[in-house]
Amino acid sequence: MAALSFLSLPLPSKTSIAASYSSNPPLPGRKLRAAVIGGGPAGSSAAEALASGGVETFLFERSPSNAKPCGGAIPLCMLAEFQIPNHLIDRHVTRMKIFSPSNLAVDFGKTLLPHEFIAMLRREVLDSFLRSRAESSGAELISGLVTDLKVPTITGAPYVVDYVVGGSRRELAVDVVVGADGANSRVAKSIRAGDYTCAIAFQERIRLPDEKMKYYENLAEMYIGNDVSPDFYGWVFPKCDHVAVGTGTVRAKQEIKVYQRGIRERVKPKINGGKVIKVEAHPIPEHPRPVRIRGRVALVGDAAGYVTKCSGEGIYFAAKSGRMCGEAIVRASDGGERMVDERDLKREYLKEWDAKYVSTFRFLDLLQKVFYGSNAAREALVELCGDEYVQRMTFESYLYKKLADGNRWEDAKMLVNSIGSLMRCKIIGEKMEALTL
Ligand SMILES: Cc1cc2nc3c(=O)[nH]c(=O)nc-3n(C[C@H](O)[C@H](O)[C@H](O)COP(=O)(O)OP(=O)(O)OC[C@H]3O[C@@H](n4cnc5c(N)ncnc54)[C@H](O)[C@@H]3O)c2cc1C
Repeated sequence: MAALSFLSLPLPSKTSIAASYSSNPPLPGRKLRAAVIGGGPAGSSAAEALASGGVETFLFERSPSNAKPCGGAIPLCMLAEFQIPNHLIDRHVTRMKIFSPSNLAVDFGKTLLPHEFIAMLRREVLDSFLRSRAESSGAELISGLVTDLKVPTITGAPYVVDYVVGGSRRELAVDVVVGADGANSRVAKSIRAGDYTCAIAFQERIRLPDEKMKYYENLAEMYIGNDVSPDFYGWVFPKCDHVAVGTGTVRAKQEIKVYQRGIRERVKPKINGGKVIKVEAHPIPEHPRPVRIRGRVALVGDAAGYVTKCSGEGIYFAAKSGRMCGEAIVRASDGGERMVDERDLKREYLKEWDAKYVSTFRFLDLLQKVFYGSNAAREALVELCGDEYVQRMTFESYLYKKLADGNRWEDAKMLVNSIGSLMRCKIIGEKMEALTL
């Protein structure tokens, strides 16, 4: 989902660790063999990097024609970095409105430059494009359900992937495994990677009459308040011929349908007459798993737990972690010529990932705790979002995933304003609560 992440500033990219590749022996007369389980953005990006780098790659996807339940908002930098063609984009969102619990609206795209936008895609379109590209790079796509991953008990012995294809059971022996099989990851269970807390997100795709769709042409909306979620936000995202209306929660998963009614109620006049064409729900991980690498198995994307709090953004981080992991294996194996081990994966993938993104994830976690905790704090958040400096910092760090050039004086002002808004809204919030008692 689109970021609400001012100050979500990743650390400047660290200079790559000097190449200290695997000292493992060369593979006799064959290439390193990798299985990538899951063909979403994480898996396809990992498979593309592995196959292009000379590793024999198998990409497993249980349902290539399916659509992952998702808002489908991606940052601008992903288009260039992952060479996503313009024709895949349903909508170029240049305007955003954020609605406070009391329904005060703030326009949140005022600082966007003429070429800047949030890209809205349908996941079925994006995922099949990324999978095809992995295939063109040399990965073999297997349209099958992986039912088990057998972990070897002898060092250096292969991992065995059990899978079902067209009703028949098969197995494949591989040297290394990338678990990109999403929030309910079977690979994570096989390597005893431990659990993470999940939110549940619910979304309806609603086809609107033409005149109502026109309103959402280049506009996305976010709604916050106890009526739409106790700890997240509700959204209306425009797609090719419909809008995606949804919400999420960690704290009260069994109440998700109540919150979905809440967001529908808030947008009622704008979606009246619309026809629900799809209803979907899926877990969203809240933090990384305790273990992300064990032996020669690495987890990426949702399987690893790479979704930011506060914004619920995971597509870019899935594709990025998949690519980083694939490239790490290529480096460590000398282009598929040598075996890799756990230390190689930790050094070449995990260390690099953590250095680049841990602070961003922690910061957004803190923001969620401060601003989504009560209706009073949410009012303060919306008030702050009206500030042009806050908007510029938020969009720059969301769209480009890199350090936005701050201004010390403006930063100090923003801090004072944040505290001021929180204090003011707490008082306002307490007064409102007293009035409603
Ligand atoms: C309702 C909702 C809205 C969201 N909106 C946004 C948004 O607007 N922007 C954003 O950035 N993020 C959003 N997210 C988060 C985003 O969807 C995920 O972070 C992202 O999809 C993670 O990609 P992935 O490749 O790691 O996993 P997934 O996209 O979940 O892909 C996993 C793939 O593995 C396959 N698979 C699973 N098990 C097996 C198996 N045993 N055998 C074979 N294949 C298997 C699945 O079929 C699937 O294709 C949203 C999430 C939800 C639930």
